[in-house]
Amino acid sequence: MNTLGFLEDEIKTLKQENRFIQPRVLQSAQGPVAMIDGKKVVNLTSNNYLCLANHPKVKAAAIKATEQFGIGTAAVRTIIGTTSLHEELETKLAEFKGTEASLVIQSGFTSNVAVCQSLMTSPEDVLISDELNHASIIDGGRLSKAKKKVYRHNDMAHLKEILEQPEVRAARRKMLVTDGVFSMDGDIALLPEIVELCKKYDVVSMVDDAHASGVLGPQGRGTVAHYNLKGHVDIQIGTLSKAFATIGGYAAGSLNLKQYMQSVARPFLFSSSHPPAVIASCIAGLDVIYNEPELIQKLWDNTKFFKEELKKAGFDTGHSQTPITPVMVGDSKKAHALSQMLFNEGVFALSIVFPTVPLGKERLRTIVTAGHEIKDLEFAVAAFKKCGKELGII
Ligand SMILES: *Cc1c(COP(=O)(O)O)cnc(C)c1O
Repeated sequence: MNTLGFLEDEIKTLKQENRFIQPRVLQSAQGPVAMIDGKKVVNLTSNNYLCLANHPKVKAAAIKATEQFGIGTAAVRTIIGTTSLHEELETKLAEFKGTEASLVIQSGFTSNVAVCQSLMTSPEDVLISDELNHASIIDGGRLSKAKKKVYRHNDMAHLKEILEQPEVRAARRKMLVTDGVFSMDGDIALLPEIVELCKKYDVVSMVDDAHASGVLGPQGRGTVAHYNLKGHVDIQIGTLSKAFATIGGYAAGSLNLKQYMQSVARPFLFSSSHPPAVIASCIAGLDVIYNEPELIQKLWDNTKFFKEELKKAGFDTGHSQTPITPVMVGDSKKAHALSQMLFNEGVFALSIVFPTVPLGKERLRTIVTAGHEIKDLEFAVAAFKKCGKELGII
């Protein structure tokens, strides 16, 4: 008997469609140069924007919290999984985001699911979403009871058209969700226009700032601060898994939002709390963000340098405005080949193919960090040039 026999066929299909994934293995700390699959490579793949993953002050805070509070709480937040560290982090994240309160949730993914599911509870509700929003927003929509409306990426005319539809106008509750920084293209949501439309049409606004927190705006406070829109966005989602380099997410907004969510949000209620070391790392990480502004400065200097060099070499780097820089290839096989050839040259950049991105938009996604030295980036660009020419991409 082979009841799971169908998996063999599924895997065969994945391989045929170039969608089979075999993760590479990290054998060192996450860093700008890292040991991966037995090879020391310039690492252009992690979201460790500020190099907090291996920062001495952050590691010290994790060790101290472990000594004081132990390795875990063995409880969900609402039973006895909320430590004084959790409370301290929530207060500090609210201050970071310029909101009244915040609620730490298991991950960025579950934060989106938790908010969409908790607020959109009736088929008379409408959830409006940018077509390039993160998978967790899509799944949040699926778990909500709302009708879904998807507008073309950053297309304000299309958004307005949707807001004018009679069934949208008649909805009980309306909520618009957008990534702050789009995770595959690195462009930024048109938040001022979105906020204006949300106000005009009485729509709850929600921004997922996973790739913007610690990166964009003054002190890395995110998209809302970048556009000087403090107080004008209802819900800000953040992740602790990217620039903060640990694991977790949060929803920042009003105290009512926090209190409601912590009473009803299913992922929050039914999955246990973060270990003290994780929470203490985030508190320490926030201190580093405030006290070492040179990290964010270097991140953006590196971003500018790397983008310019890739463009000079003739690569199409899309519409990115942030440290996420796509290198467009336009074909799955070629994208995988480029990634493999670069790896052989000592550079790791991941290929992203359909269905994560549309057909014809296959690419390598690169992310520079504050830890890369100019020589690392020059080395990477030289490898890109060599391999790009061999594959006829440039
Ligand atoms: C990465 C990402 C998430 C998920 O965050 P995790 O903390 O890793 O679960 C959510 N939204 C966006 C836009 C992301 O890029």
